[in-house]
Amino acid sequence: MSEQFDAVIVGAGPAGLMAAKIAGENGLKVALLERKESITSIQRSCATMFAIEDESYFGERMYFNEEQKRLVFPVTGFSIPYEGPYRNFYTWNVYTSDGKHSIKLGDYDVNQAKGSKGRLSVTYSKQALLKGLLSDAEANGVNVFTGTNVVGLKRDSGLNTVITAEGRKFSGTFTIAADGINSRLMKLLDLNKERIFYGTLQGAGYYMTGVVPEYPEAINFPQLFHKPSGYPVMIWVEPSPYGEDEYWVYSGGPTYPDLNYKDELDRCIQDSPFSGWFKNAEIIREHGHVANIWSPSPMPFKDNVLITGDAGWTVEAECTGSMMSGLKAAHAISEAMRNNKPNKEGVQNYISWWKKHFPGSMDYREFLTVLSGGLVGEDAVTYLHKLVDEILPCSLNPYNLFNNMNAAIMKKMPQIQKERPDIIAKMQAMGGMPVEEQMKDIIKSGFPN
Ligand SMILES: Cc1cc2nc3c(=O)[nH]c(=O)nc-3n(C[C@H](O)[C@H](O)[C@H](O)COP(=O)(O)OP(=O)(O)OC[C@H]3O[C@@H](n4cnc5c(N)ncnc54)[C@H](O)[C@@H]3O)c2cc1C
Repeated sequence: MSEQFDAVIVGAGPAGLMAAKIAGENGLKVALLERKESITSIQRSCATMFAIEDESYFGERMYFNEEQKRLVFPVTGFSIPYEGPYRNFYTWNVYTSDGKHSIKLGDYDVNQAKGSKGRLSVTYSKQALLKGLLSDAEANGVNVFTGTNVVGLKRDSGLNTVITAEGRKFSGTFTIAADGINSRLMKLLDLNKERIFYGTLQGAGYYMTGVVPEYPEAINFPQLFHKPSGYPVMIWVEPSPYGEDEYWVYSGGPTYPDLNYKDELDRCIQDSPFSGWFKNAEIIREHGHVANIWSPSPMPFKDNVLITGDAGWTVEAECTGSMMSGLKAAHAISEAMRNNKPNKEGVQNYISWWKKHFPGSMDYREFLTVLSGGLVGEDAVTYLHKLVDEILPCSLNPYNLFNNMNAAIMKKMPQIQKERPDIIAKMQAMGGMPVEEQMKDIIKSGFPN
């Protein structure tokens, strides 16, 4: 016998928890299914910057109100309490692999002197965020089932039934797919067939104490390269809100058979121009991530399943985008039930919202060029980055982050033409290729779900 609900939500990350909280508040009978035993223990890497405070993202202008301790989404029209710790950060510094130069996105001293008014954003605790959402959902009667791994989906007589690896069944008028970047539901619904696959990203991360980067309240971003493959290895060193010298340190990039990101992270810490930052550092916890890169889902609905958050976006929707779509999906279901239209027409508001705010608001191919840019190789990247000697404006929007750097490099074209025509030829060859061609080796070594 399956248990029956108005909404069965699969996945209790930011998208699923927000959907559950709203659906519960709206009076729906809700089941929230999560395969982990503990919803608030975080194993997947997340830098937990409040993304994005400095400009619009997904058509929203979100920010953290530290006086009232609320995360505010004024365009979508909601805010949620956030009681955990937070820490301002002020710039993003992109280091060449020899550690001799960094491109400064934002002026650290000027921004830091302004305090909260000069910050790029805050880092915060994802654990505290999830805890708050979970306790609101539970207070509103949501039935939470942890240790519940969804492996199947059936549709029969107007009801969806999800089936778990543990042999349980949960039926609902609507299902919300909030099962993250490697979504099982997207696969079961065959929705990935409508998307283009661009490869698999992998990474390893440490939570560390005793780290002393050059700029403590900044995103420090050494750009290393894997020696055998030449692939770019991105390293992020980001301040944690829990302690002055506590940092999240990640390494990540495309899948390549001989590339182990934990080894690359250890190389950065132990034997690189950046090792000085880690002289007295200690690893407290380890994280990891594997993320398939798909073009966004053009349609966030099939067979009464609504797609939210990372499940339908290109790489990460960020916690903010995931919460927004979870909230919108839950409201749409509530409206559909009240209007006695438990079907696609009933949730049309959500479909229109998704199309406008997700695939319609950003061209995912711009993000892919961020990934493919490093493929020109270590020598070319180091040379080009060293040409940028002015302080550039910063953005946390990954779609715009590298535009300012590219624009500064473009200004140096006459000098590059004179000194390194070989690099211009390389850039022109890459620039003339469709992004699928630029990324063909990454696509080949990825593993689509
Ligand atoms: C290195 C790195 C850095 C990042 N930094 C930031 C940052 O600074 N700021 C930011 O906002 N975002 C950041 N992100 C992205 C952010 O973590 C995600 O976008 C966000 O967590 C997505 O939320 P979600 O609810 O859509 O999916 P998830 O958080 O992935 O939640 C999905 C949930 O579904 C569960 N699940 C999956 N499959 C099943 C199944 N079959 N049955 C039951 N449950 C299932 C999972 O266990 C998980 O709990 C980062 C990500 C990475 C990898």
